[in-house]
Amino acid sequence: MSKDKEKTNIIGETEETLRTRVQSWGFSAFHGSQIFNWVYRKYSKSFEEMTDLPKNLREKLEKQFFIGYPRVIQTIEAKKKDAKKYSFLLEKNTAIESVVLSGDGERTSFCISSQAGCAVKCLYCATGRMGFIRNLTSGEIVGQVLTLMENHGKPSSVLFMGMGEPLFNFESVVSALRLLSGIGIGVRRLSSRHAGLQHGSTTSPGQTSIQGLRYPSAPQLRKRDGRSSPLQKATLCKILKMLLYSTEKILEKE
Ligand code: SF4
Repeated sequence: MSKDKEKTNIIGETEETLRTRVQSWGFSAFHGSQIFNWVYRKYSKSFEEMTDLPKNLREKLEKQFFIGYPRVIQTIEAKKKDAKKYSFLLEKNTAIESVVLSGDGERTSFCISSQAGCAVKCLYCATGRMGFIRNLTSGEIVGQVLTLMENHGKPSSVLFMGMGEPLFNFESVVSALRLLSGIGIGVRRLSSRHAGLQHGSTTSPGQTSIQGLRYPSAPQLRKRDGRSSPLQKATLCKILKMLLYSTEKILEKE
């Protein structure tokens, strides 16, 4: 984390934005791809070590950005060593958690947070009892994955099943998904759990997929008695808004 409020966290920048940025500074766009590589594939913690970049570009980066990994404040490993919990401290003294699951020893799943606290308040959930604190930025979401990858290698899957309801932080989650795709974690490895809707999404008939997140179809939203709960109604409303938002974005690009 940086104490310099003027600087931007480079974790969260896409390859495209980095290429555009360095070009605007008068450097080759190729250097943007090199920076992307250093940050997301080599887990670089300083611009100084990006030795294939011109020195004046490294100095420029130093002035504009910081490399803001979430700070690990505690790790707890299960006795069977099949799960490890990471507690992180983010900016604004925000604490979140991620979990690495390596059940059968062959597959590793990262369970990451999309929000600090949660407004949904599911009765069984400790996060729900905390209440909502704030949405995480895409950089803070990806920062969890980078930290876990550095320690555990590339995961078999990334699950948005940590703190928060990912659908309520849609823009940051979608940006994070794009970034994770850019570092070779394909959308098929990513799944999301939604409160009251569907737990541990997998592809099944009738589901709608938007940029890596899968949502249940209308019949799946219905309760057994044929009526929707207030939460389901609220979430359905949110999904419809997001569908409209996504459609607008697609149309903007055409
Ligand atoms: S949506 Fe998830 S994080 Fe939020 S209260 Fe429910 S179980 Fe907990």
